Amino acid sequence: MSNDHRTHGKIDCEEVIAHLFSYLDDETDAERRSYIERHLEECRACYSRAAFEKALRAKVRQLGDKEAPAALRRRVKALLDRF
Ligand SMILES: [Zn+2]
Repeated sequence: MSNDHRTHGKIDCEEVIAHLFSYLDDETDAERRSYIERHLEECRACYSRAAFEKALRAKVRQLGDKEAPAALRRRVKALLDRF
């Protein structure tokens, strides 16, 4: 057997998910970033999770330019009108 038993660089799914948002926000340090990227290459579950979050964020950002602020303003105004 020539299995690679190094444990450094191996992080599990929970940790990847925990840091997924800062990873997508580009707020992780280079070391963790490369760990996560390596994990995403090996782990289909986390890869599709990351792809999903990425697509979702792109969508939200798109909507954020127009619909979201208007809806939010309406909701805040409705709240303020009650006082
Ligand atoms: Zn995983």
